[in-house]
Amino acid sequence: MSGLKSQFGNGIRNGKQYLEGLRDDREVWIHGARVPDVTTHPGLSRGAQTLAGFMDRQFDPKLSDLITYDEGGTRFATSYMIPKSQQDIVRRGDAFYEWATWSNGMFGRTPDYKNASVMAFAAGAEFLAEGRPEFVENMRNYYEYIRTNDKVLTHTLVNPTFNFAQAKEGRYDEKVALQVVRETDDGIVVNGARLLATLGPHADEIEVFPSTLLKASEDNIPFAFAFAIPANTKGVRMICRDTYDHGKSHYDAPLASRFEEMDAVVIFDNVLVPWERLFMYREPLLCNRAFAETNAVVHMMHQVVCGKLAKAEFIVGLLCAIAKATGKDTDMAVKGMIAEAMWMTESVRAFRFQAEALAHEDQYGNYIPLRRPLDTSRNLFPKMYPRLIELVQLLGSSSLMATPSEADLGNDLADDVAQYFQTVNLSSKDRIALFRLAHDVAVSGFGNRQVLYERFFFGPQNVLASVYYDLYNKDDMIARVDELLGRQ
Ligand SMILES: Cc1cc2nc3c(=O)[nH]c(=O)nc-3n(C[C@H](O)[C@H](O)[C@H](O)COP(=O)(O)OP(=O)(O)OC[C@H]3O[C@@H](n4cnc5c(N)ncnc54)[C@H](O)[C@@H]3O)c2cc1C
Repeated sequence: MSGLKSQFGNGIRNGKQYLEGLRDDREVWIHGARVPDVTTHPGLSRGAQTLAGFMDRQFDPKLSDLITYDEGGTRFATSYMIPKSQQDIVRRGDAFYEWATWSNGMFGRTPDYKNASVMAFAAGAEFLAEGRPEFVENMRNYYEYIRTNDKVLTHTLVNPTFNFAQAKEGRYDEKVALQVVRETDDGIVVNGARLLATLGPHADEIEVFPSTLLKASEDNIPFAFAFAIPANTKGVRMICRDTYDHGKSHYDAPLASRFEEMDAVVIFDNVLVPWERLFMYREPLLCNRAFAETNAVVHMMHQVVCGKLAKAEFIVGLLCAIAKATGKDTDMAVKGMIAEAMWMTESVRAFRFQAEALAHEDQYGNYIPLRRPLDTSRNLFPKMYPRLIELVQLLGSSSLMATPSEADLGNDLADDVAQYFQTVNLSSKDRIALFRLAHDVAVSGFGNRQVLYERFFFGPQNVLASVYYDLYNKDDMIARVDELLGRQ
């Protein structure tokens, strides 16, 4: 029995099991020092605890039929379910949405995102036979391994840009990019760096696949592969950005104190990748087609649209609460500002609904949501989200700065704070809590990272847009123009 097959597990895990899994000898660096244990490090531990709490909900009897499914008496996360009908697509969407509501989309990289991708690669694994026949079984085994062990994945799909002109030609630079340096009987050895593992320090496994978008040139062979390895593999080193969890209370930093999902550049220092964990190899053109032709990108976009819906709804709620605080919600101009956020939210809801309602069978006999509305959403949301945040800033104005800390509610300033921070509809304590939340959404480092995330996590906006253009059915529309021009 192969290594992975002998390690198949027992389905969903709870938070305690997840946290125990993170206590290994993984090499994570932050603020100039190596992290001995990501579950206790002050900048990383509360993000891990949050995700552990989410894993626990898989055992909540009220939620289990929604976010998990039964197969042969064992329960698995719904995001692993291979959809066989339109109803299955709706069920998957409901599960994605449920997961997203727990953080209101602020913990963007819940495990269901990567689960959706691996599910699709396994469901369309025949595609990988074009590379090597054994890659089909490798992928299916890997899917079973992570599904039955409920592993949490991160991914690094992008090589660091060394030279933009070179990158645009679809070539990577050997000084920085991840590449194969040799083969052994046990596997391939890779060396170099990859961007940007969101959730990396909190993940069990790292998926190292080609970009979903950027196309490599035909001769880009040493850089062409897809594999997945445990986060604690020897030679894997994660270099984190600064943490946004500064140890503040939930009152003072309601988002950063809970949803710090961390991003890390991953260095691979002569890392051995076992053959059974390899899914594509030395085939740049196959790599270019992989996410589209397995439909993995469609299933990932489905998870994303459901998450963005929860996030946009939350921003609408926040704007309405801000307006209500001082009674601004009776003003026509303010209503108009918030209505703009409502239109964006309802557009995302419509994209989700259309994609699910028009789900169809794919070339592998499974079901996929309709791609175009999801693609439209992934092109528009990177523009919508910065505008949503601008609306929070415009409506919040100086109240975003009139934010004493929790300590000021009980110290010598307490009477002043209770007196001067109240509004017609809110006590000082509640008003400060609301605007500290708005600050974490729209002003803090945590909030600004969210904006950057929405702008970039699915890839550069111009490349996304040009892929959309290429896939769009333009001929029918050009024909209408030609028909009019040709009328006598
Ligand atoms: C908060 C955050 C989280 C992220 N998480 C992840 C993650 O978990 N996993 C992951 O793999 N990636 C992740 N990313 C990385 C993301 O995929 C990239 O930021 C994105 O693809 C842009 O690439 P870059 O950052 O290298 O940008 P740059 O090197 O600065 O260049 C990108 C710019 O170059 C242009 N460009 C690049 N290539 C081409 C091309 N072929 N043709 C034309 N123009 C081109 C585009 O204009 C683009 O804006 C994350 C990014 C952020 C900001």
